[in-house]
Amino acid sequence: MNFPKYSMGIGDRFAHQGKAQLAAFVKAKQLGVEVAPVWNKSNREHLIVHSEPPSVRAEADAAVKALGWKGPYFVDADHIGIKTVDPFIPGSDFFTIDVADFIAKPAAEADVKAFAAAQGKNTGSLRIPGIEGAIDVSADRIEAIARKYLFAVQEAGRIYRHIEAKKGKGSFVPEVSMDETDQPQTPVELFFILAMLAQEKVPLRTIAPKFTGRFNKGVDYVGDLRQFEKEFNEDLAVIAFAVKEFGLPADLKLSVHSGSDKFSIYAIIRNAIRKHGAGLHIKTAGTTWLEELIGLASAGGEGLEIAKDVYRQALGRYDELVAPYAAVIDVDRAKLPSPEEAAGWSGEQYATALRHDQKNRNYNPSFRQLLHVGYKVAAQMGERYTGALEAYEDTIAKNVTENIFDRHLKPVFIG
Ligand SMILES: [Zn+2]
Repeated sequence: MNFPKYSMGIGDRFAHQGKAQLAAFVKAKQLGVEVAPVWNKSNREHLIVHSEPPSVRAEADAAVKALGWKGPYFVDADHIGIKTVDPFIPGSDFFTIDVADFIAKPAAEADVKAFAAAQGKNTGSLRIPGIEGAIDVSADRIEAIARKYLFAVQEAGRIYRHIEAKKGKGSFVPEVSMDETDQPQTPVELFFILAMLAQEKVPLRTIAPKFTGRFNKGVDYVGDLRQFEKEFNEDLAVIAFAVKEFGLPADLKLSVHSGSDKFSIYAIIRNAIRKHGAGLHIKTAGTTWLEELIGLASAGGEGLEIAKDVYRQALGRYDELVAPYAAVIDVDRAKLPSPEEAAGWSGEQYATALRHDQKNRNYNPSFRQLLHVGYKVAAQMGERYTGALEAYEDTIAKNVTENIFDRHLKPVFIG
């Protein structure tokens, strides 16, 4: 299946912004840069907003039809495991097989030994084109990497084969993700993880490791930019080498699960993929729902009332809303406006506090992160919220398209 060199995963919690999102990809294409949109929604999101996986397929198809999009596009079963994958199988053609929870679980000792033995030729000093110097890899190191990752890769193989049995070989994009864990994978670990995936015969198209630094939801990257740049470039070198070494699909790409809006690393990513001639899949703009709030606030009237009400309720349910995302947000409670203060805001004040424009002095990352995890409140408003999305569609769509094009597609792929 034709899976383009560049693709971008986008999220849409309430399934109303498919057209506005796709319009940003149309703009990129008009500038000569083809990026395939990949609509993704995880099981957790479906549970919180009470939607079902087929709704994402319906939304994507409708947007593509409405805008006459002729390029490839995909629907991603985001972060599925063996227990959650089945409802996603009919409508998805991209599967993010998440095995992070299986890292460091023990594989059979015989399998660990067999893997290390099979990697005999990569023992000693390993040279990877694009990485300076030789990497010293002892047999013990390979065994240690296998002890940490082999069981997780075997699980990825089990899930892959389960999907393949139902959908048929070559009819979907398999991604393996290990990003939702504490420790980043080093480029050397990535190399041997790819060897394990090849051994499991997973025809991998994208791999999502955990990178160094903090990837909090909806806000910028926090970490050492130089270290990230080095690691990212080395990961690209590792992938290009592993493709040849292990016979993986030639178009295998790195997948960045950005948690949205990692603006400070976008130029590093863009320069690196150009330098290496590499493809890229990047998941971002899961913050589309925040653009809905910005659009509602900017529209004023009932739209602004709803946006304020979402904040007031989110603040009141702080612990409940923050708990599932505690590892990936850093909200400073002292910086959150009181409900009374926010109630007095104009639409412009609300929008500028929320919009991810670091140059604007009103921008409040704590306000933004709390609202980002507060979509449950909007989901529970039901028709009041979705009705407003329809009533204020124009203002919202403008914000959604601009956000994806100006703040994501352009800096990552166009420059
Ligand atoms: Zn992820």
